[in-house]
Amino acid sequence: MAEKLSHEQWVEALLEATKGFGGDIPPVQRAEQLRGLIKTGLLKFTDLRDNPERFFEAHRILLSPGINALGGEGMSVAFTVSFNLWAGSILGLGGPSQVAALDDMQKAGTLGCFCLTEKYAGVNSGLVVQTTATWIPERQQFLLDTPNDGAKKNWISQGLTATSAVVIANLIVNGKSHGPHGFVMKIRDNETGDLVQGVTMEDMGLKTCANDLDNAAVSFKDVYVDRSALLNRYADIQDDKYVQTTETKMRLEVIGQRLLTGRLAIAEASVEFARRIFERARKYADDKICWAPKGLPQPRLSEIPHIAAIFAEADAKLDALASYNAKVESRLCTLLRETAIPDADLVECIAVSKVKSVWTAIDLTDKLKRELGSYSLMAESGMQSIPWLLCCSFAEGDGRILLQKIARDSMKSFKKSTWKETGKEIIFGSSPEQQEMKLRFQLSRVLSSATSPADAARLWNENYELVYALADAVCDRHVAEAIGEDRILSKL
Ligand SMILES: Cc1cc2nc3c(=O)[nH]c(=O)nc-3n(C[C@H](O)[C@H](O)[C@H](O)COP(=O)(O)OP(=O)(O)OC[C@H]3O[C@@H](n4cnc5c(N)ncnc54)[C@H](O)[C@@H]3O)c2cc1C
Repeated sequence: MAEKLSHEQWVEALLEATKGFGGDIPPVQRAEQLRGLIKTGLLKFTDLRDNPERFFEAHRILLSPGINALGGEGMSVAFTVSFNLWAGSILGLGGPSQVAALDDMQKAGTLGCFCLTEKYAGVNSGLVVQTTATWIPERQQFLLDTPNDGAKKNWISQGLTATSAVVIANLIVNGKSHGPHGFVMKIRDNETGDLVQGVTMEDMGLKTCANDLDNAAVSFKDVYVDRSALLNRYADIQDDKYVQTTETKMRLEVIGQRLLTGRLAIAEASVEFARRIFERARKYADDKICWAPKGLPQPRLSEIPHIAAIFAEADAKLDALASYNAKVESRLCTLLRETAIPDADLVECIAVSKVKSVWTAIDLTDKLKRELGSYSLMAESGMQSIPWLLCCSFAEGDGRILLQKIARDSMKSFKKSTWKETGKEIIFGSSPEQQEMKLRFQLSRVLSSATSPADAARLWNENYELVYALADAVCDRHVAEAIGEDRILSKL
């Protein structure tokens, strides 16, 4: 049905289908609303492959809580977890029959959750996976196990309401570890809601926002799942042996595909959210006349110099980021259609989208909130949903971890051989390019005194300000190059 609609009709139908969603409602009610939206088929679980532009647009339209259609902060998270992390992982990692099953699950309004994060691993989840899935030949099944408290999956969105889960676990076959792999499994009975044997869940507790979303800590004890649970596009078990089924080897980057699509969707939604907050505030500030001493014209609130400056900064930065994100989206959509893996440059560009979009949205909305007086307290401003941006900041790759990687990669291409220690001061120009070079040079000089890898890590940490300044400069350069403008993210 969705395919037959014009773009305008599709947007209208999506808004109609989500009318009345959101607010401070219990997670079970929110889950029911999401099930209804899934069943409409307006966004298909398979659109991430077949119509990726629609997948991203739905995120832009629906995500901004309190401002756009989905209303509640938690609903926004649950929406992207369902369509991107859960369904998207099955789509990207699953074999043909697993992918085909998505159609029936869509018709049934199946809710899924995505279990990656582990308590001990925190923001390094994926890199560190202690949950195990051991192949047991006698049973022709996998045994899922949480070996210790730190290996518990935590923060799992929709864990308390979903009936299906994609679980990332370290696959062990014949005593050999093959690293993290994805498994899809039923976790709860559709009718009774009872958890399957051996899966336990704890509520993560009350949050400062997004309490319409349930978050769970999940553990597995003596949980057996069939061979068909292994998402087997890239790897499978044949004759009790681990086999690679494609030329592409299963590795972290392959699992990480969904984090990349989610990263970009969240980046775009954050920019859209900030734009809507500013649009509303602008209307208010344009209409509000302020007092002025006798003889002087009465300014509008939006003309007070520091407030005018915030609006100008927001216009420039949010426009730049929206254009940048659109360019990155277009590159990514081409690959999604082919189910191909992005190269290192695109991965970095997506990281830049995520970090800069979310943090710029946080900075700008925070500045605005502090300066617009009583308006900021009014529900109509939408500012009560600003904490939602914090969820965006942690989700799909932590900002600090992404910046660390950007800085490390920048230093890899800057070998010591490119400069010689002469004892003389090296003069750098004031252009952004020269300043970026200066940061790499300074960091390179500091690191060159390392006596061991551990010492290099210590020096890296001690010089974190240089590290993040370099990463910021790289981000700013990517945005400027892509949209053909000066570097503005750090200038204004
Ligand atoms: C609302 C919500 C929903 C979520 N939903 C899901 C889900 O559905 N599925 C899922 O798998 N996960 C989910 N997560 C987990 C999320 O993706 C993060 O992995 C998790 O929040 C990390 O949490 P932490 O506080 O334990 O991180 P920590 O590891 O404690 O890190 C906290 C902060 O410390 C800093 N930090 C830590 N280590 C480093 C380092 N090495 N270098 C630099 N800085 C560092 C960073 O600033 C980081 O933000 C969700 C999280 C939230 C809050």
